[in-house]
Order: sequence, then C-alpha cells, then structure tokens
Amino acid sequence: MDLSTVTEFLTVTDAAALRRAHDGDPATAVVAGGTWLFSVPQPHLRTLVDLTTLGWEPFTVSAAGIDLAATCPVASLESVPFAADWQARPLVRQCVRALLASFKVRSVATVGGNVCAALPAGAVTSLAVALDGVAELWDRDGGIRRLPVEEFVTGDRTTALAPGEVLRTIHLPATALRGTTAFRRTSLARLGRSATLVVGRRDPDGGFVLAVTASTPRPHVLRYREVPAPDRLVADVEERVAGRWFDDVHGAPDWRRATTLRFAAEVVGELSGGPS
Ligand SMILES: Cc1cc2nc3c(=O)[nH]c(=O)nc-3n(C[C@H](O)[C@H](O)[C@H](O)COP(=O)(O)OP(=O)(O)OC[C@H]3O[C@@H](n4cnc5c(N)ncnc54)[C@H](O)[C@@H]3O)c2cc1C
Repeated sequence: MDLSTVTEFLTVTDAAALRRAHDGDPATAVVAGGTWLFSVPQPHLRTLVDLTTLGWEPFTVSAAGIDLAATCPVASLESVPFAADWQARPLVRQCVRALLASFKVRSVATVGGNVCAALPAGAVTSLAVALDGVAELWDRDGGIRRLPVEEFVTGDRTTALAPGEVLRTIHLPATALRGTTAFRRTSLARLGRSATLVVGRRDPDGGFVLAVTASTPRPHVLRYREVPAPDRLVADVEERVAGRWFDDVHGAPDWRRATTLRFAAEVVGELSGGPS
C-alpha cells in the first residue's frame, strides 16, 4: 500500500550516513524488503531509510559459523554453504518454507526485516533461536552490542531495539550448526501462517535445545545437558510459557498450547531415537 505520510526516502551507502539518517526520530524507520512495512498503514512515519543500498554481503561462512547480514534475502538462506559436519542444514529450508509467502516475497523479504518485524510467526526468528543466533546491533553513536535473538524479540511486534538502533548481523555459531534438528509446524489452513513451530536440537556433546515460536508472543528456548524425558520437557514448557499462549486469527491459545506440547514430546522422541 502507499504510505501517504512518507515524504522522504533516503538511500545510504555507509555506516556514517546510516547514523545521520536514522537518528532515533520516531517518524523515521529503516526499510529492508518492505514486505511488512508497506503492508500496514504507518501514519507516524515521514522518512524511510533504505538499508539495501549499504551493500552488505548477504552471508559469510567461516569455521566459527554463519554470519547473516540483516539485508540477506530470506530466499538466499537456502544457498548458504554448509560445512560437512553441520547437521542442521535441513532446518534452513524448513524455516524458509515456513514463511508462508510466494517466492517473489521471499526473494525481497530479509533476515533482519523478519526478525525486527517480530511477528510470532517469524520464520527467521524460529531458525535463529533454534541455532543460538546472536544479533549484532549498531546504535546511533557508532556503538555495537550483541544480544541472543531469543532476548531480542520481546513480544508480538516488539523487540529490544533502542531508538536509532539497527540490526546488522545474525551470527549462527558452528557449535549449534553441528546439532541434529527435528522440526514441527502447523497452521490452521494448509497454506496458512505458522500457528505453532517447534524445533528440537541435539548437539554432538549430548546437549538438547527446544525452541518454541509462533504459538507464543515471544520465542522460548529451553536448554538441557542431555535429552530430557518427554514428560519433563512438556512440564518445563508449560512452566516457561506460564499460560501466555498467543491468540490471533491464526489460532486459538488452547490449540496452540496442545500442538506445542505434542510437538515438544515428538521432537524429543525423534532426537532420542524413539518413536516420533
Ligand atoms: C504474503 C505475505 C506472507 C507473509 N508471511 C509471513 C510469515 O509467515 N511470517 C512472518 O513473520 N512474516 C510474514 N510476512 C511479513 C513479512 O513479509 C516478513 O516478516 C518479512 O520477513 C519482513 O522482512 P522485510 O525485509 O520485508 O522487512 P520490512 O518490511 O522492510 O521491515 C519490517 C520492520 O523491521 C524494521 N527493520 C527492517 N530491517 C531492519 C534492521 N536491519 N534493523 C532494524 N529494523 C529493521 C523495519 O523498520 C520495519 O519496522 C508476510 C508478508 C506477506 C506479504
């Protein structure tokens, strides 16, 4: 849709220009793919600052893991090269496909835009929290801080971004990429938005991680030194979420609770070699 109150569209090509343009004024927002920003009225906005002209390399891969630029298109995630012992590769495709949109939308929607839009169904958020993703944030004074993505997304459409701050990169550490993952997702309609998305991860050292997204307003990550018994995992999820199941047109809270708990038990079964 047209954003009729926007009168300025700034392109920036370096960090200093970005800081000058995105100085914390609430009437200014950065735009990446624009697939969320241009989908809802934004009457408070006067200025948009385009991040895609910064020319950030979409991703870099090293022995330490994968660095995803905030401007990396979601569709490009599937072409990130994986080291031979990074077992988590299938999760990338599963999460990309969980963004229920056409290839056209996935090709412009970005990693950073998905996480910063902070929709509970944020597919990149699901990927990042399941793989211990860490967000690198640039502030308006040139400072940098890092925050686990599970803490960065604080609720339905809310994040830990301070005024003028920009998400630069998400780092996925090699330690997490070596884990074997199990993925479960459901939606009310066959091609509907994710209502519940659960990922389990079993690491080579025996550790186990469960990431719950979509069914709760913010991500929840539970960590164990070894694969927990399904009953314990389910009880821990209940305790962690403490009744705060997400409620919108994409699914009722009691159904989201039921599917989350079932999927938690299933992924722990799958990753412990038992029935899934
Ligand atoms: C048909 C369709 C289906 C969709 N399905 C889903 C879905 O299943 N799940 C889902 O989560 N979303 C969905 N969306 C919404 C949206 O497309 C995605 O969330 C997308 O990933 C947003 O990325 P973007 O680059 O387009 O963000 P933009 O629209 O450019 O920005 C989104 C928000 O993030 C801010 N922002 C962007 N980049 C940064 C940055 N680097 N630092 C700080 N702030 C930043 C912007 O200011 C804005 O507030 C859908 C949209 C459409 C049109």
